Amino acid sequence: MRDIGLHLRLKSSLVDLVHTAYELQIPIFQCFLISPSGFLLSPSEEEIVQIYPKMQSFAQRYLHASYWSNLASVRHTKHRVLMKELDLARRLGFTHLVMHPGSAKGALNQKEGIDAVARILNTLLQHETEVKLVLENVAHGNMSVGGNLQDFKLLLEKIDKPEHIAFCIDTAHAYSYGYDLSSKDGMERFIHEIQTTISIQKIALIHLNDTYDSLGSKRDRHAAPGDGKIGEDALRHLVLDTRLRGIPLLLEPPELNQEELWVLKQNIMQWHNE
Ligand SMILES: [Zn+2]
Repeated sequence: MRDIGLHLRLKSSLVDLVHTAYELQIPIFQCFLISPSGFLLSPSEEEIVQIYPKMQSFAQRYLHASYWSNLASVRHTKHRVLMKELDLARRLGFTHLVMHPGSAKGALNQKEGIDAVARILNTLLQHETEVKLVLENVAHGNMSVGGNLQDFKLLLEKIDKPEHIAFCIDTAHAYSYGYDLSSKDGMERFIHEIQTTISIQKIALIHLNDTYDSLGSKRDRHAAPGDGKIGEDALRHLVLDTRLRGIPLLLEPPELNQEELWVLKQNIMQWHNE
């Protein structure tokens, strides 16, 4: 059975969020560690002890790093927040830390940004092998790193322990960046691009999203799968592709209530049963 999960919003506590994941009967989930008031969570030792065993009943637990860290920055290179998130990820029992590479704004060229991302990842990898580091492709262009999958190919060449780095493919971001996933041919070209850059083996996760934004718009407004420009047929084609079938799927829809999330997850599960 394929793992299909949801991004959950932290409304009160992490314990409540994990409880919601239970109720939704999802084997995997993802969340930010940002409180509703906009601060990085700082759970007490007591809370950590309480939550850790509860986390273990989910096959994979993805912590999405906040957007405060710009890994591709050539100016701000200390990344204290990211370090703290990685530390929390390990102590709370997350299996993966999902990161956007960021933008090389202020650098001479985008390549300097890729170098900066490699530097911070190599630093993190010196201490961390428990939580898998996952880089996600993004919708943005120009000086942003990770819109074009070729960026990740270049990045991998600069990583000391590439076996500890994995990738997340977000379908909405790929489309907004300019990969036309809405047609069968376009989807084939995209899978071929994956094979020749990061390889399918290095994909840890697919963020299965549709988008309200048009092809190449470089904008990022997620829609539920089938509700946007990529469309249900094409997304179904992608997730049922035999080469990608073992990769977990995670949905990041716009704000929905628990009942709507349940229905959405059931729909995607249904694709696999037809
Ligand atoms: Zn995503």
